[in-house]
Amino acid sequence: MILLRLSAPALFFFFALLFTGCNQSPSPSATPPPNPAAPLTPGPDGKVHLSEAEWRTRLSPEQFHILREAGTERACSGAYWQKDDKEGLYHCAACGFALFDAASKFDSGTGWPSFTGPISPDRILNRVDTSFNMVRTENLCSRCESHLGHSFEDGPPPAGTRYCMNSLALRFEPAPLKPDKATK
Ligand SMILES: [Zn+2]
Repeated sequence: MILLRLSAPALFFFFALLFTGCNQSPSPSATPPPNPAAPLTPGPDGKVHLSEAEWRTRLSPEQFHILREAGTERACSGAYWQKDDKEGLYHCAACGFALFDAASKFDSGTGWPSFTGPISPDRILNRVDTSFNMVRTENLCSRCESHLGHSFEDGPPPAGTRYCMNSLALRFEPAPLKPDKATK
């Protein structure tokens, strides 16, 4: 069996390839993540500090695994992986901090919601991730240090960065309807 001779990273990419080229129709399970309680207020240090037990009461088990245990959802399984023309902001699903403007979202073809960059650089913390025998840039919410996804330098110009996020780590809030659209 040829798979047995492949290294762990090779296996990772093999299975990642299996999940690319997703069907463009919405998945039946692609319902938005549960809307958590009101956004958490940061302390004097600008951070949100909750215990593991407190995070577990606030998040679904799937969200806890991704946000607090650096898990990854299956490609094309989330609510937000498809590009759409909605206007609004994507917030951290853990603490409610606004992270990405929908205008920065693009279709990366990966099955995960992808953005060219956060609203401002200080909204995201970067950390070196060496899991799976790879060196990647892990992205965390700068307010609560929850895991969001990873960024790669293969995004569209001019910045060339692709922020590859988990849908379950985000919560979308649509922008208020503009007067010309509200009357239609
Ligand atoms: Zn957060």
